[in-house]
Amino acid sequence: MNLRRHVVDCFRRLQRTDPSNTAAIIPKYESEHPTLSTTSERYFVTVDAETRLIRKGVREISRIRERIEKHFRVEIPIVWFVRFQRSWSEYVEKETADYFSNSLNEAFDGFELAKSSLRYRRDRGDEIGWHYHAYNYVHREDLSHETRIAILCSDLASCAQAIRQRHSEFAVRSMRFGWFFIPDYRVFAVLRASGIRIDASVRPGYEGKKVADSNATYLAPITVSPQRISGTWFVPYTRTFAIHDWEMVTHNLGWTKLGRGQADANRDEFAQAISRAARNIAESGGSFSTYERADAEANMVVDSQAGRFSYR
Ligand SMILES: [Zn+2]
Repeated sequence: MNLRRHVVDCFRRLQRTDPSNTAAIIPKYESEHPTLSTTSERYFVTVDAETRLIRKGVREISRIRERIEKHFRVEIPIVWFVRFQRSWSEYVEKETADYFSNSLNEAFDGFELAKSSLRYRRDRGDEIGWHYHAYNYVHREDLSHETRIAILCSDLASCAQAIRQRHSEFAVRSMRFGWFFIPDYRVFAVLRASGIRIDASVRPGYEGKKVADSNATYLAPITVSPQRISGTWFVPYTRTFAIHDWEMVTHNLGWTKLGRGQADANRDEFAQAISRAARNIAESGGSFSTYERADAEANMVVDSQAGRFSYR
């Protein structure tokens, strides 16, 4: 089965069975800024790493990346969006912003589960970001939008603080919401205050569509091209090749199973996707990058353009 189709199928299946999901993404963008014109194409390889298979998934994806790097003699950094948040039961049972302003007891802490593995990847140039699903918002539709946003803001602040306390070494600055679903752009004020400067959750083309079998719907994209808005650099994905980290390894997690044949096929397709990008770079210029690196480059542009820039 075509991987892209397979991913769509998995995504749909997950929406029915388990909210945990999503993707490795390879969007790219071209800069309009003349100083970046000759090497303006940036390819981002990103992974949402979010299950207890995280260590295996990271290892398999890294192994494929290293093979392609050697073959094409190109550096391929990866952005790992690591899931960190409270337990599922808290999101569906608790219903006050006060509760979510408390420090975390139970949590799914992907940073802890894969700490040495992530440390190693960060040291070789990868970026470590944060992945978070707005479970309460999506699954407590009995609560008002304002109540759920208050809860979400409280929880994002609490979780971000917990990440800083437990895992300051990763200096997390980027994030992606689960399902690529942002319930309200006001949450970025909280995220900015918590040190999040880069968002990779905007999903153009999904406005009005339902999220994860709920009645929640995607907002209109705040931007359809990478752009800094009120201190957050939004990098929407448009041209996307998606995989799941757990699609790289055989498993049976109950809500998803994968046999050896399909795992092998998925790894091959992932390798081919990166190879195609590497070939494009070899022929037409550009580079693989991380959001932080691209943001640092963009900052130079921002300095000369009164704090605002855009990419096509
Ligand atoms: Zn997810």
